Amino acid sequence: MAEIDLLVIGAGSGGVACARRAAHYGARVAIAEAGRVGGTCVLRGCVPKKLMYFGAHFREAFRAARGYGWRLGEPMLDFRTLLENRNAEIARLNRVYVEMLERAGVRILHGRARIRAKTAQGFIVEVAGTEILADRVLVAVGARPSLPEIPGIEHAVTSDGLLEEVYPLPRRLAVVGAGYIGVEFASIFRALGSEVTLVYRGELPLRGFDRELRQELAAALGRAGIRLLPGARPERIARNGEACVLETSAGPVEAEMVLLATGRQPIPNTRDLGLEELGIRLAPDGSIPVDLAYRTKVQGLFAVGDCSDHAGHRLDGLHHDLTPVAIAEGRAVAERLFNAKPMTVNYATVPTAVFALPQVASVGLTEDAARAEGRRIKLFKTRFRPMYETLGGGDERILMKLVVDGADDRVLGVHILGGEAAEIIQGFAVALTCRATKAQFDATVALHPTAAEELVTMWRPVEE
Ligand code: FAD
Ligand code: NDP
Repeated sequence: MAEIDLLVIGAGSGGVACARRAAHYGARVAIAEAGRVGGTCVLRGCVPKKLMYFGAHFREAFRAARGYGWRLGEPMLDFRTLLENRNAEIARLNRVYVEMLERAGVRILHGRARIRAKTAQGFIVEVAGTEILADRVLVAVGARPSLPEIPGIEHAVTSDGLLEEVYPLPRRLAVVGAGYIGVEFASIFRALGSEVTLVYRGELPLRGFDRELRQELAAALGRAGIRLLPGARPERIARNGEACVLETSAGPVEAEMVLLATGRQPIPNTRDLGLEELGIRLAPDGSIPVDLAYRTKVQGLFAVGDCSDHAGHRLDGLHHDLTPVAIAEGRAVAERLFNAKPMTVNYATVPTAVFALPQVASVGLTEDAARAEGRRIKLFKTRFRPMYETLGGGDERILMKLVVDGADDRVLGVHILGGEAAEIIQGFAVALTCRATKAQFDATVALHPTAAEELVTMWRPVEE
């Protein structure tokens, strides 16, 4: 008989969620972690990023405060304090995660795990030189930054370093890539006081999001003072003393720091785990193929989160490398194995937000995606100046858009730029999960005065 019922490899969002839920149902669970417990989200992702975002948003708040009668001196940022306080909070959260696992009865194994073999008794997994026999194994090893192969890459940093280390605020920052990380970090560092150039190969930032939101976002980033360099590919980086020169296909960019935000991929985390030796063929990007129960081709071996192909959903053009998706998948595995409850994840209504200044948030299909599916759609749209700015004096505009199925009136997508977009979208994700129709949106009484009320008061389609 195996020593344990479940060995989880990777104590990040997906692994911790599965381990705790499985232990709750009485399973004997161990979790192996090569680094610190908490994974990307807690240590070098969502949480430290959001703390930096909070730090950055004060620039706008100080400006607006004057219009509301507050008299302030010239605000000054002590960047080191922000980073030190951020790191102290992350260290606290790391301890909380360890305690949570211990309280749940999960054994923590410190070290890199590798599956040695599958035998009739179970999987033999080696963790830091010790072998453990497990009935089942969940792989939740996450992803790593994927970097373009250009000369001088060693002079660049990734978000991992920026969210874990303490360093001076770069006077000039070049950001390569305009996906989630590129747009968030460009906004945050601009608001903190850096001169920022955003270098991206596409025509607009945030590929995959609604086209009009992307256009509006590019304009807003420009108004915030970010220099946009679209259609530009990174070619080489050279260091000259304190400064770097990033050569791009659209010309050179000088900066103290170059941030590469060019995506994340499961390789190399999924290599060297012993998966291929067990007969698993990784996808070309290194992700582990799984079915809707997160089973791999090998019986008893499961995979969730950023290292998986999200049950075939990785290539569907939506965004799934997100903490709540990894958590939902991890819990689904535990529920199915130890509570006999088949749980599935609804990938169609995963809400997502980009914590830029301004925020971008979406759930469901974009206009382009709905058309590409051959649907006849109705579009509802509003663009307005939020009440906050009337006294605040800023030039922020909020854009909201509903994509509605012309055939059955179902709301297919909700897209917001500006204001508290991220806080608003969560509730609308519930509505879309319930397959709400536009008529039901109309029948919902508005909450006044808010920006969100516009989403239930858009009366006439702008296009059908
Ligand atoms: P991870 O959290 O990456 O955990 C994997 C763990 O496995 C790691 O701790 C790693 O050390 C460990 N590991 C790897 N190999 C081994 C091995 N062989 N043996 C033992 N342990 C191993 N998502 C959001 O929803 N909202 C956000 O605002 C957001 N912001 C982000 C900001 C940044 C800068 C980044 C990089 C990501 C952000 N994400 C955000 C994405 C989110 O962090 C990930 O989707 C999520 O953490 C994935 O969880 P996971 O469990 O799949 O992997
Ligand atoms: P994204 O996939 O979001 O964006 C990558 C960017 O890099 C795109 O602009 C892409 O261009 C560009 N790019 C990719 N390869 C190259 C290359 N070789 N040369 C030049 N440009 C390149 O990845 P991120 O790194 O921003 O973030 C990784 C993931 O982490 C996200 O996909 C998301 O799942 C998660 N995340 C979530 C956040 C949130 O929920 N708020 C915040 C941060 C991260 P193109 O579009 O043309 O392909």
